[in-house]
Amino acid sequence: MPVYNRIAETHNDMQAWRRDLHQHPELCFEERRTSAIVAEKLRSWGIEVHEGIGVTGVVGVLKGQGTGTGAIGIRADMDALPMQEENDFSYKSTINGKMHACGHDGHTAILLGAAKYLAETRNFDGTVHFIFQPAEEGGGGGDAMVKDGLFERFPCDGVYGLHNQPSMPRGTFNIRSGPMMASADVAVMKINGKGGHAAYPHLTNDPIAAGVQLYTALQTIVARNVGPVENAVVSVTMFEAGTGSNIIPQEAKLTASIRAMTAQIRDLVENRMGEICAGVAETHGVEVDLDYKRCYPSVVNHEKETEIAARAAIEVVGAENVNTETPIRMGSEDFAFMLEECPGCYFFLGTNDETHFHSVHHPEFDFNDEVLSIGASIWARLVEQQLPRT
Ligand SMILES: [Zn+2]
Ligand SMILES: [Zn+2]
Repeated sequence: MPVYNRIAETHNDMQAWRRDLHQHPELCFEERRTSAIVAEKLRSWGIEVHEGIGVTGVVGVLKGQGTGTGAIGIRADMDALPMQEENDFSYKSTINGKMHACGHDGHTAILLGAAKYLAETRNFDGTVHFIFQPAEEGGGGGDAMVKDGLFERFPCDGVYGLHNQPSMPRGTFNIRSGPMMASADVAVMKINGKGGHAAYPHLTNDPIAAGVQLYTALQTIVARNVGPVENAVVSVTMFEAGTGSNIIPQEAKLTASIRAMTAQIRDLVENRMGEICAGVAETHGVEVDLDYKRCYPSVVNHEKETEIAARAAIEVVGAENVNTETPIRMGSEDFAFMLEECPGCYFFLGTNDETHFHSVHHPEFDFNDEVLSIGASIWARLVEQQLPRT
């Protein structure tokens, strides 16, 4: 079964919705226009709508035919990025410094397309929750919705999410069971030493010397503490210190991004950072204050729900276009918060072709509208397959 004909017929609508969202990008937790459009469309198709979940999140509730008690959640993210678009087509961003460069405009249009189809056909028995979340790009909108009682108010047997993937061929489906994307944390290390004249270093406790050693020592976490076949990254991305060539400063600051594929590795890295900071402080006679902030957990797909999603995808794009062993990625995704509360699966839909090859977050990125019908068909198929009419 390829793309649903009825969904293919709404391609022009989905494309128009997508391009309208593209023209009006909104950042983390500011998705007021976007969520209002989503809510209005869902209502117009007879779907029960709940707004303001996790600030600007929206949930649509659609019951099928029959008395089935099964329930599925499908999630799309709605937010854009704080960057300047460099495309020059008719529907480019109308807002300076804001751009849909990650394709969340496409994810939203896909889920709307699936909702329209499912509301019109209702060829299923049970409940579908259409989850439109804010603030995926660093704002933790998925977490905000979960904390706002998402799964208590809208219980789901399984929750599913997709992301476009411009590095993979258009219409392919890329998935894996178990850990698939890394956790993402931020560590800020403030070094408080004793400043002084550059000509008299022996009278100071140089925070730069301590910071350089701290940088080097942090590299040993991945090289020497994390197992060679495990996955973690410690990237020091900022090193701030000093105001003049003849001044040894009082303070230095290092900022790092930490990625880990499992909760155990995440704990290990955090613990080792604490120990290394304490050791460097002791060695250099400085204070090192570590502020380790846990941001997104790793995305861990559940085995059964991964099989369910793969089965739906195979029916739409064929087994030859479904890779169930897609490589793990060190990027992160706040769908992880939903997967911690509810079994589910997150996967990638390939979008690469001769006109769509820029990576997400590139100033010339544009979502590939050719996959709108494929994405909506996968959601529709998944619902009809998991909540069959008897
Ligand atoms: Zn992104
Ligand atoms: Zn994204």
